[in-house]
Amino acid sequence: MKTRFHALLLRKDGDTQTAKDVELGLDDLMEGDVVVSVSHSTVNYKDGLAVTGRSPVVRKFPMIPGIDLAGTVETSTHSGFKPGDKVLLNGYGLSENHYGGFSEVARVKGDWLVKLPSAFTPADAMAIGTAGYTAMLCVLALEDAGVTPEKGPVVVTGAAGGVGSVAVAILARLGYRVTASTGRTEEERYLKSLGAAEIIPRTDLSGPAKPLAKERWAGAVDSVGSTTLANVLAATSYGGAVSACGLAGGMDLPASVAPFILRGISLLGIESVYMPMKRRLQAWERLARDLDPKVLASMTRMISLKDVPQAAEDILAGRVRGRLVVEMCA
Ligand code: NDP
Repeated sequence: MKTRFHALLLRKDGDTQTAKDVELGLDDLMEGDVVVSVSHSTVNYKDGLAVTGRSPVVRKFPMIPGIDLAGTVETSTHSGFKPGDKVLLNGYGLSENHYGGFSEVARVKGDWLVKLPSAFTPADAMAIGTAGYTAMLCVLALEDAGVTPEKGPVVVTGAAGGVGSVAVAILARLGYRVTASTGRTEEERYLKSLGAAEIIPRTDLSGPAKPLAKERWAGAVDSVGSTTLANVLAATSYGGAVSACGLAGGMDLPASVAPFILRGISLLGIESVYMPMKRRLQAWERLARDLDPKVLASMTRMISLKDVPQAAEDILAGRVRGRLVVEMCA
């Protein structure tokens, strides 16, 4: 293991936040019972918010951002992990109050780690990352709510983004007819290659929502929020369900109760950061089964640690297609 290693460090001076590539040692890391050599991380929307300081994701400074990491255990006093184990970590306060994945070495709690499923390399696990694992949580919630492919088509909003791309790929592979809603209609070929049957422009769903609209979908994965989620709720058919995980279009929800009380729609809130381990493991097992590795590779681009600040700007501007993997030693 490297005794000196690179990390991206966020500092805050008054209102000014900076992100710098620094060299650190093990003594600079936070408490934890497992030390991991991080080979890969990824850039999610939340990483964009943290690295740019656009939203108060980081609770204390200095902070190493990066909500995800994958790599190999170097040392462990946790009974569940030993040196050489391949592991991944999603969330659990990384980049909020504990140093995160944009570091070649991380010290974390073993209770937060998931053993890398044998179907995946560390790079695959980060191609999935929090975005993909959350997409799977959204699909599991729809299944639990009884939304099966036979019930009718489903819609995915923010479809060309990370959560959206993985959700489209999983749902299509499971046999759902998927409508992909996107602001980037030039990505029609890409979205169809992931399995989307139909593409609709994001503007179809972004205006003020009526209490109820024509019933179009049995279910939805929404990563956008705001008027988009309100329109999706209004157009969900009787007894359907909507998994809501994101706020890329806004944090508000200008909707009415009509879909709930007149059509029995369920709004399923999805939170990935502190999701109990049992459900995490279920999500990762299902990702190994229900996400085609070739499709995952087709939606993924590799970058290096020094590219992260620019990638953070790009993802907030909606310029990132699919998923970004950070190769730590590139
Ligand atoms: P991405 O940036 O990769 O995807 C978001 C997509 O939303 C964009 O690609 C774009 O898709 C669409 N979008 C962006 N801006 C707007 C806008 N102003 N109006 C409408 N659509 C917009 O982000 P991620 O996939 O990483 O995350 C998606 C959302 O899910 C984020 O809000 C994130 O915070 C949230 N999230 C929540 C989690 C949880 O635990 N609840 C976990 C993971 C993510 P297109 O170009 O196709 O329109």
